[in-house]
Amino acid sequence: MDLQTLALHEGYEKGSQGTMAVPIYQTTAYEFRDVEHAANLFALKELGNIYTRLNNPTTDVFEKRFAALEGGEAALATSSGMSAIFFAFANAAQAGDNIVCAKQLYGGSLTQTAHTLKRFGIESRFFDVHNTQELENLIDEKTKVIFFESLTNPSIDVADIEAIVTIANKHNILTVVDNTVATPVICRPFEWGVDITVHSASKYTTGQGLAIGGILVERKGLNEKLKNNPRYEHFNTPDASYHGLVYTDVGLPAFTLRARLSLLRDLGAVVSPFNAWLFIQGMEHLSLRMREHSKNALALAEFLESHPKVKKVNYPGLQSNSNYAMAQKYFQDGMCSGLLSFEVEGLEEATKIVNATKLYSLVVNIGDSKSIITHPASTTHQQLSHEELLACGVPEGLIRISCGLESSYDLIEDIKQALEA
Ligand code: PLP
Repeated sequence: MDLQTLALHEGYEKGSQGTMAVPIYQTTAYEFRDVEHAANLFALKELGNIYTRLNNPTTDVFEKRFAALEGGEAALATSSGMSAIFFAFANAAQAGDNIVCAKQLYGGSLTQTAHTLKRFGIESRFFDVHNTQELENLIDEKTKVIFFESLTNPSIDVADIEAIVTIANKHNILTVVDNTVATPVICRPFEWGVDITVHSASKYTTGQGLAIGGILVERKGLNEKLKNNPRYEHFNTPDASYHGLVYTDVGLPAFTLRARLSLLRDLGAVVSPFNAWLFIQGMEHLSLRMREHSKNALALAEFLESHPKVKKVNYPGLQSNSNYAMAQKYFQDGMCSGLLSFEVEGLEEATKIVNATKLYSLVVNIGDSKSIITHPASTTHQQLSHEELLACGVPEGLIRISCGLESSYDLIEDIKQALEA
């Protein structure tokens, strides 16, 4: 079935009430029929609802629908994108292990990997997303995950997914891709052999900046990679915390099963049913929105490229962009999402332009239907020195835009008057 059809129907059976909209099951717990029923659910002899920290019928529709959109087998929703990313790492690695990550990551993912995971004894090693030799040099027998973003935020690079997956598979290591900015509409990581995807649902999934949430998706057939893989012994040996369960023996998608039964149970970063419901609403028009976001961003990027005050425009839909070939290979129908950045002469000029815009909101978010403007050097990257800013590709004159769904004419006119103010 086509993605747009799945987005409207997958994972929901209208019940006796015939409700067209997926109901919100706002409940903490569920009544068992009797003690045997309760025991069967806990022993996984029967699948069903136990407690909303583990599962919920509204969240279940969100998970099934998102997994279908991504072309995966199963999904686990979490309370935020950051917790989905943490679950992907914590499910694969433990103290003494390492993960290899692209340098070009969202700031929160950088601090989680470089600082927070380190305190749990998991080392993060970093490679340039365009340098797969550097990646391979960092791998050893303790490497449990290779992590990168398909379309990076904020540097707006496009990863060579196939090349990275080839190296990962040579060493039998799990690949985890953050597909937040591209979304399943634009990029299909599983078709290139990626094992797990993670998303911040707070961005394009909700689409209107309505709620924080995350989701982790597992590809079809991942159990075969986990089964008897010496890197992932904990998937193949009894889990003492779950009466000796061996995750790869259950006959269910093992990665999400363990993330739910072990991590969600013990860490509790669960999405609220109401937020899951908001994500279901957002998914209904995700593919229509991504087309418009991409169209607007391309029109704006082309305008900016032609303006004398603009030194450089970063948008992979532009033929002049170094990521153009990768975008053509990995992205659907020429769409490149709504994120772009451009550089003007220094801090003063950038500040003046950001302050002069009227239609763009000065916000540190992306993926909203309303356009957003950010000045990284004075916000997300404020703590970095001039040299550090240059090293991570964020000069003081860089402005980032998350293109919304306003008319492209109005978006261009507003930037034009701000540049010329
Ligand atoms: N991944 C990417 C690419 C992001 O841009 C963000 C947030 O901006 C996150 C993950 C974190 O998501 P959340 O804010 O839902 O925790």
